[in-house]
Amino acid sequence: MASTTSPAKANAIPDGTSDYKPLRSCKYDASKTHISELPMTWSNWHKHINWLNTILIIFVPLMGFISSYWVPLNPKTLAFAVFYYFHCGLGITAGYHRLWAHSSYKANLPLKIYLAACGAGAVQGSARWWSMKHRAHHRYTDTVKDPYSVRKGLVYSHIGWMVFKQNPKNTGRTDITDLNEDPVVVWQHRHYLKSVITMALIVPTLVCGFGWGDWLGGYVYGGILRICFIQQATFCVNSLAHWLGDQPFDDRNSPRDHFITALVTLGEGYHNFHHEFPSDYRNAIEWYQYDPTKWAIATWKYLGLAYDLKQFRANEIEKGRVQQMQKKLDKKRAGLDWGTPLEQLPVVNWDDYVERAKNGKALIAVAGVIHDVTDFIKDHPGGKALITSAIGKDATAIFNGGVYNHSNAAHNLLSTMRVGVLRGGCEVEIWKRAQFENKDVTYVNDSEGQRIVRAGSQVTKVARPVASADAA
Ligand SMILES: [Zn+2]
Ligand SMILES: [Zn+2]
Repeated sequence: MASTTSPAKANAIPDGTSDYKPLRSCKYDASKTHISELPMTWSNWHKHINWLNTILIIFVPLMGFISSYWVPLNPKTLAFAVFYYFHCGLGITAGYHRLWAHSSYKANLPLKIYLAACGAGAVQGSARWWSMKHRAHHRYTDTVKDPYSVRKGLVYSHIGWMVFKQNPKNTGRTDITDLNEDPVVVWQHRHYLKSVITMALIVPTLVCGFGWGDWLGGYVYGGILRICFIQQATFCVNSLAHWLGDQPFDDRNSPRDHFITALVTLGEGYHNFHHEFPSDYRNAIEWYQYDPTKWAIATWKYLGLAYDLKQFRANEIEKGRVQQMQKKLDKKRAGLDWGTPLEQLPVVNWDDYVERAKNGKALIAVAGVIHDVTDFIKDHPGGKALITSAIGKDATAIFNGGVYNHSNAAHNLLSTMRVGVLRGGCEVEIWKRAQFENKDVTYVNDSEGQRIVRAGSQVTKVARPVASADAA
């Protein structure tokens, strides 16, 4: 018995997930080499193609476009097609995606039936299959286990993953036990083909036919072409939303936020936010951002059809945003010249410093750091005389208010001229230590390990400590 254990079973991870099991019969045998593992050749290319998907997402729409040449477009049919487009679109975005794939809210039975029916009208597979793939996409974003990874190319993530056969073994494992317990999901999965034909083709044909006698227009525009537009819009979430736009919450993976993607996907375009906070019923968090799916769910809640809407705390969302801003700031900071890091500078004795300054080097020590100002003397805003008078001396006090309290920019500029560090013992050291002890200044490193030099905390910035009673 033990010898019959399949490799898939042997690799099973006891994390509560399971391989996807179709509810209908399936001929898939994990022990055989899958066609996708073999290179595509002239003799086997047709075996690589998933013909059912290809017919549904390429040939049928093509037929629709061709037949639209002979079928005139009735304005009433157009209005219905747009109306029906939004309903079937919501079936996917509010139903398949936010309700079933992410459980971001709960729906009562009538709403579930409406969403499952409209979802079928969008012709994108059953809610069960769709959610399984989508959960794998979130769990394994951008990896080989992501069923529509944008890392395999924009066209692949948009449509290629459906046109070419995928080895079921490669799709990441997910837990869909909740979906298997949802009678609406199971019913729709079991009666998927009937649901699709009814909702995608028969309903629009009947509405336009009985409504205003446009049977053929209802079939072509309300049915086939509407399906094509919804499919392409949804596919954009997998392609465009991982390719176009900003990454305000995290840039380690591909998801991005963009208004255009939101516009074509009923609000699913704030995808960077969505991948960070997937169980939030919203994709757009600002009131002015376009997220009609969120508006629909909120309306259903108002009508008593939806409840338990999940929302991340603003505090958590802002933390992510601030961290990403910090990361960008660090990157920008790393590109600037802050002077040679102090620990890389040579340590020089006071006498050596004075000696070198006497022998023609324009060296100035400020706060225990030696600076070579030779090339700067002529540019010194305070004039040549003042800066020259500090050469070979400890100019800490002069620089920090003794003669002129230099600006923040001046401290920054000075740091780019540093060439050495004085060996301890200066009065300055005592001042600096006092600063540390008073915790007036805190030094922090950025994510690259570089010290963050905030305005006013440059090493050359030294304030004379204020004498306090508790210091004694
Ligand atoms: Zn995504
Ligand atoms: Zn999602």
